[in-house]
Amino acid sequence: MIRKFGTQNPAKTKILILGGGFAGSNVLRELQKQFKKNDVEITLVSQDNFFLFTPMLPEVSSGMLHPSDITTPIRSFCKTANFCHAKIISIDIDNKHVFVTRIFDQKETILEYDYLVLALGSKDNFFGNAHIEEFAFTIKTLEDAIAIRNHVIGVLECADQERDQILQEQLLRFIVVGGGFAGIEIATEIHHFLKDATKRYYKNIDPKKIRTIVVSAREGILPEVGDELGKFALDYVRKSGIEVITNTKAVDAGEDHVLLSDNTIIPCATLIWAGGVIVDPLISALKCEHGQSGRLVVDQYMRLQVHPNVFALGDCANLVDNKTNSVYPTTAQIAIRQAKIVSENLAASIIGNVNLMKPFLYHNKGVMATIGKRIGVAFLNGKKIHGFSAWVLWRSFYWSHLPTREKKIKVGIDWLLSLVFRADIMTVGFIKKKTLSRLETPMSSALEHSVDHSQNPSYL
Ligand SMILES: Cc1cc2nc3c(=O)[nH]c(=O)nc-3n(C[C@H](O)[C@H](O)[C@H](O)COP(=O)(O)OP(=O)(O)OC[C@H]3O[C@@H](n4cnc5c(N)ncnc54)[C@H](O)[C@@H]3O)c2cc1C
Repeated sequence: MIRKFGTQNPAKTKILILGGGFAGSNVLRELQKQFKKNDVEITLVSQDNFFLFTPMLPEVSSGMLHPSDITTPIRSFCKTANFCHAKIISIDIDNKHVFVTRIFDQKETILEYDYLVLALGSKDNFFGNAHIEEFAFTIKTLEDAIAIRNHVIGVLECADQERDQILQEQLLRFIVVGGGFAGIEIATEIHHFLKDATKRYYKNIDPKKIRTIVVSAREGILPEVGDELGKFALDYVRKSGIEVITNTKAVDAGEDHVLLSDNTIIPCATLIWAGGVIVDPLISALKCEHGQSGRLVVDQYMRLQVHPNVFALGDCANLVDNKTNSVYPTTAQIAIRQAKIVSENLAASIIGNVNLMKPFLYHNKGVMATIGKRIGVAFLNGKKIHGFSAWVLWRSFYWSHLPTREKKIKVGIDWLLSLVFRADIMTVGFIKKKTLSRLETPMSSALEHSVDHSQNPSYL
């Protein structure tokens, strides 16, 4: 049976925020500052009852941070607002209805709104390849980070027992597809974890046999930091022992291999996919203008053009930066800045003074990424910085953006402890996403997936 959400008060203006990530949580927090009295009813809907601090997700995979360090309950942000822990099923913009199912028991509910904020983020884009979707790990959710950690430790345990050299080498090959922030950060985190763990704990594994390979479709890596720093990052990542294959795509995969666009087959037991994002089908189903990767085209005030009561921001919104003539990238920094503008413009709409609305203009103060153990690259206020100082900057910047004092203390303590103690090698919980069937002969399924059957594939 379909019910209406119980807390909705017909007398108040209803603002519905869909999504509790960087964009949605920050709109919620800013709106509560705008409407200190209870004169509007704000409800945030999310399928996760916590906010996830994604820039530190790779550190959960390497065991540097605990999952609870980078998650904060959304209810802790709700001073006057309501939280609805539910999965959004469909959005009816014409009738101002959102259909959701409660996470606990899948009971269906309709939520009504006067103003809607779309902040549903993005999903991994597998470019329609069902094999890659089936066999690759992804790094988007907390569950993904824990699954990678458990899998990587499981592979080490297996390789330690494996006496067949070829199979052991296959187990010790870790492939990461994607040369952007997420791909490079997860590759460097797990590479250093693997080296440290094998040196200390796994006597039957020669650490030199560990191969972490990044496959990037572009000429280099980290396009977000510009050419010069990107080149430094590429050189450093390579010097630290990670192999980077550029100008190449991963086009297919099986449980024991990855196939590249140049017909090279890489036998492996681990594929991590950070090869691109696309919007949720919920967003692509909306009847309005869509831009890059299905993102919602918004005007300079972050509204849908034909629905001025609907705002979109973050990874699901498409806005062109007039200075560069390109669409704003999908980053947490941009989502946070857009949240401030959306809340101000929404408040201006509610009080009926559209002259107070502000356009979204982003002055990029800088970008940064970690690219190895205590090494980073940064482009800040026109200055290019790399090495230890860039890594300290990265840590300070993201640490200061953790949402609560409690999380700042927890992360600070864990980082300090990691300087003294080695990463632990316990698997966490029972999340196990991909199972490897017994590796008996290397690469049994690989030949089926070769791109060009007229040529023999080459093997890495
Ligand atoms: C590993 C990794 C590292 C990154 N590193 C950086 C970095 O260093 N710097 C940087 O600026 N950016 C980084 N990013 C990018 C950054 O995380 C995103 O740009 C940012 O999270 C976008 O915010 P958002 O709110 O639009 O989407 P999200 O944060 O993805 O939030 C989407 C929300 O919608 C909810 N949701 C989605 N679908 C449904 C549904 N059907 N029903 C209910 N709820 C739903 C989700 O649960 C979530 O709460 C990184 C991303 C990853 C994955």
